[in-house]
Amino acid sequence: MTGEGKTIIIAVDGYSSSGKSTFAKAIAQRLGFIYIDSGAMYRAVTLACLREGLDPADNRDKDKLSGLLERIDISFKINSISGDYETHLNYENIEKDIRSIEVSEMVSIVSKIKEVRDKMVLFQRKMAGRKSVVMDGRDIGTVVFPDADIKIFMTASADVRARRRYRELSEKGIKAGFGEVKENLVQRDRMDETRSESPLKKADDAVTLDTSNMTQEEQMEWFLDHFSEKLFSE
Ligand code: C5P
Repeated sequence: MTGEGKTIIIAVDGYSSSGKSTFAKAIAQRLGFIYIDSGAMYRAVTLACLREGLDPADNRDKDKLSGLLERIDISFKINSISGDYETHLNYENIEKDIRSIEVSEMVSIVSKIKEVRDKMVLFQRKMAGRKSVVMDGRDIGTVVFPDADIKIFMTASADVRARRRYRELSEKGIKAGFGEVKENLVQRDRMDETRSESPLKKADDAVTLDTSNMTQEEQMEWFLDHFSEKLFSE
């Protein structure tokens, strides 16, 4: 399957802080594929809305939102020192700003809007281009790449996920209470699952990975156990 010329798409969808990005990044690194964090793109649009004082839920701001979407450019660059992927909005590094609690509280409202989703899906398909990619998000296996070669749906208990997100934020120097972090996760999942545009749901042909009691090494082992044959045959 990884023979000359064949590109591969691996879709990793699932709940907030189920470990999608760490897992997806590790797979991409292992296979030499590009990694794309689609959630960061919705966060970037949300940050742009906040900066322009635009209320995406207010219909009166609809024209302003269209204008903003026309001007927006989102890209990912690898930090040469840390080796991490960083999100850029119109060439400004916004990686830290998009993880703030203000953005987290608004992102699921912004990502419900059809016009926003249409634009992000175009970006996502263009970024994948003719290269093999691992992309994580909520609708990658269902909407963005319904024909993805491998589809994984990740989940974990709400407590485990909240602990992970809390630790991640603390490490980045972002202050937030544990309760606030957990409440935000639960609320976002509810909004993501119940929205009419591309709701968060497992694709029929996705394989579920519950990471509640798994280390990152165990997750990689699980991946290789399940997909090595598919990836490396030929
Ligand atoms: O992955 P992350 O938690 O950073 O995503 C932030 C939010 O972006 C999600 O809660 C969801 O509302 C939205 N999102 C989406 N579709 C995607 C990725 C993220 O709607 N493919």
